[in-house]
Amino acid sequence: MEGAVERRSGRSTRDPSFRSETLRDRDRILYSDSFRRLGGVTQVAIGDPSMALHNRMTHSLKVEQVGFSLYSKLTAQPSDVDADPDAIRAACLAHDLGHPPFGHAGEQELDRLVVCPEHREGPRTFERRAADPCPNCLLEDGFEGNAQSFRILTALAVHRESPGRPIGLDLTRRSLAATTKYPWTRGTSGRKQSKWGGYDCDAGALEWALGSTDADPTLDAQIMDWADDISYAVHDVEDFFRASLVPVDDYKSNTETLDILLEYVESPRALGPLTGEVKDALTSMLEFFPAARFSGRTEDLAALDRLRGVLLTQFINAASVDAQALVREPIQERLNSILKQLIWFHIIDDPTLSNIQAGQRRVLREIFEALRPVAEEAYGSGGTEPPGEQALRRLPYGLRRAIGVGLSQESGYTLRQKIVRGLLDYIAGLSDSEAYHLHAVLRGREHAGQLHRN
Ligand SMILES: [Zn+2]
Repeated sequence: MEGAVERRSGRSTRDPSFRSETLRDRDRILYSDSFRRLGGVTQVAIGDPSMALHNRMTHSLKVEQVGFSLYSKLTAQPSDVDADPDAIRAACLAHDLGHPPFGHAGEQELDRLVVCPEHREGPRTFERRAADPCPNCLLEDGFEGNAQSFRILTALAVHRESPGRPIGLDLTRRSLAATTKYPWTRGTSGRKQSKWGGYDCDAGALEWALGSTDADPTLDAQIMDWADDISYAVHDVEDFFRASLVPVDDYKSNTETLDILLEYVESPRALGPLTGEVKDALTSMLEFFPAARFSGRTEDLAALDRLRGVLLTQFINAASVDAQALVREPIQERLNSILKQLIWFHIIDDPTLSNIQAGQRRVLREIFEALRPVAEEAYGSGGTEPPGEQALRRLPYGLRRAIGVGLSQESGYTLRQKIVRGLLDYIAGLSDSEAYHLHAVLRGREHAGQLHRN
């Protein structure tokens, strides 16, 4: 990669501990506030909170481990594989930074709040959005977890003070490219409509990191992506089996249970029909599933450990590189998807979670609706009037900081768009419990110093 270790600030300092530039990036992410916050963000908020299940921080640490194992596997033989182990580690630690409170439900709700129904169904191109802003969209480039991660790394996170222009953690080009699974701004169709890696206000940084606002993911990024798929499937199954929410043992002993799952998995809205080969591989995989409910006995722990080891090894070994692109054995890729479907079937599509999520969406919506008028008043989004002191004092520090980043950033945004982006940045940066708490405060149900601390 050309200029791979360049930083956007142009700064370069000699590292006294002889770390590589991309290892320095990885360490900056590990020590960032945004990484620390991941300890308070759940993957799927369900189950007994006392059970110490995975959160997004423990998940990210395991993705880093799997990413490094993948790198080691892919470069075990002398080869011309162009992967950077430290950029991969950086990307693995950073990949979930932009996840708002309450997982996917939170992500959808924040997007829904700022994009009008017409443009949610049919987004327009970057150029059209900029040239002819929609009067009904607050932000037509919406909200997306991956774009949010990129914004944290390149603008919101604080590494050093940089008056005049926010630079985030000021990572190298190589590491930024590695963190970007979807190196484009919001697109108009297919995958580019539902997933994107940079907002319109961050298009300059995206272009700097990848050379374009519509690029292909680098090999480092593809390795991070597969490491994420592997960890997510394996650790979720482990968590929900421990919590007795996924009866893994039943699948082994009861063919009827398996048939019901397969019916779900093979439906058109899930994976569609599976080949005989995939089903055979699934049967072989089930051999390693624990035979009894988890109750914390030594044999339960050993069975779980064995299952985890088998699955991780199998998925890591399924990877190879061809022409600097990651290749995954199709059968193993399918098995990985089936494990994820197991979680959808038992957890995500379950009515209990639907009700919890409806409440969580409401929490985010009401925070947004309560703070938006105050923020607009404070910053005078009507035009030229000076910021309203009175209103400014009602805004949490975190929100003022986020809006401040948008205001000092060169982008095509209007003042109102900058304020709304700042509000989304602030809400997306809350932990699950901070969101619940802030909501209670704003609705007059609790009083606390919360608003001032954040
Ligand atoms: Zn619109």
